Amino acid sequence: MMESLIREWDGETVIVHYDRPTGAWIFIAIHSTRLGPAAGGTRMKSYHDVEAALQDALRLSAGMTYKFAVPGIPFGGGKAVIAIPSEFDKQSCPAILRRHGALIQQLGGLFFTGPDFGTTSEDMDIIAETGAPYIFSRTLAAGGSGSPGPFTALGVFTGIQTVCEHLFGDMTLKSRRVLVQGTGSVGGALIDHLGAAGAKVMFSDVDEGAIRHFRDEFELKFVPAEAVYRTECDIFAPCALGAVLNADTIPQLKCRAVAGGANNQLADPENAKHLLDRGILYAPDYVINVGGAMAILGMETQGWARDQAEKEVAENVPRVLRQVFELAATEGITTEAAARRIAEERLSAGM
Ligand code: NAD
Repeated sequence: MMESLIREWDGETVIVHYDRPTGAWIFIAIHSTRLGPAAGGTRMKSYHDVEAALQDALRLSAGMTYKFAVPGIPFGGGKAVIAIPSEFDKQSCPAILRRHGALIQQLGGLFFTGPDFGTTSEDMDIIAETGAPYIFSRTLAAGGSGSPGPFTALGVFTGIQTVCEHLFGDMTLKSRRVLVQGTGSVGGALIDHLGAAGAKVMFSDVDEGAIRHFRDEFELKFVPAEAVYRTECDIFAPCALGAVLNADTIPQLKCRAVAGGANNQLADPENAKHLLDRGILYAPDYVINVGGAMAILGMETQGWARDQAEKEVAENVPRVLRQVFELAATEGITTEAAARRIAEERLSAGM
């Protein structure tokens, strides 16, 4: 099964490491180095089987290739997955992170990493003890640029403004109804931007603390998880889980556009056609959520200051999104297909 997953994958290299002391598996998938060294987050979670973990690494690394290619960021696509056993002892965490760092160090610059689901900037500090200089997004205290979340949120916010420009003729968000699903690092910061811009924000979350915070302190309208897809709004912004756009949810949607930060929102690329047929504008996830990666790479490899990073994100996400919408309209294709075409052209030109 692992063999067929790798055979059928269109990437370059997979590093497979069995972590004997904990029983965890580490996969580092290098999908493409066509535009530069591979970069992508380190995801740490338990999976129901090893194949599912490998598959996640392979699929996510391909996503990173497209994420960097569309706006022309000179990095290739990669991803690391640390698949921990379900009975993982948290005390073993620093040690496995250090072993992961040593593995990255051995690759000598083929792969760079940062935080992803299940890891934080604090974890990057630990990985960097053995993996420097190939580790991004360490804490500010350790000399890194901290969490990418606020930059991702800024990119999503400017992407939502661009969606409004396309749909309603101007970028203003005043009185637009935006439903944010997931109020964590990205969704929470996105809500701040939306609120400041005068949008009517609704939110959904499954965490009691987050619900209390945004409903009781911010006085935002709370939408229970089971009602999200059928709630009427102008923009639906998924900022929690993947695969939220599928054959079951798309027929329920009562929004004009989907534009949010979550990765892999489409359960299947074919679902983009279903959205188009329903007249719902889709901002491809890897185009609109690139802000964090763009800012962190810019600050840590190009010497950008924080305000320059914000400026680059706020200019580039709308620029690329407009290009995607225009290509989709002129070619009569989905926005997903348009983004894919832009990425593939850059990859084949090597720029
Ligand atoms: P996070 O863990 O900080 O927040 C996720 C939030 O979603 C939490 O508040 C959680 O309670 C909530 N949630 C979980 N299940 C839910 C459900 N069924 N309905 C509603 N809410 C639910 O994660 P994050 O860093 O904000 O990332 C969110 C998404 O954006 C993920 O898909 C991630 O892969 C993607 N993303 C994040 C970044 C980044 O810079 N952090 C960059 C690109 C993409």
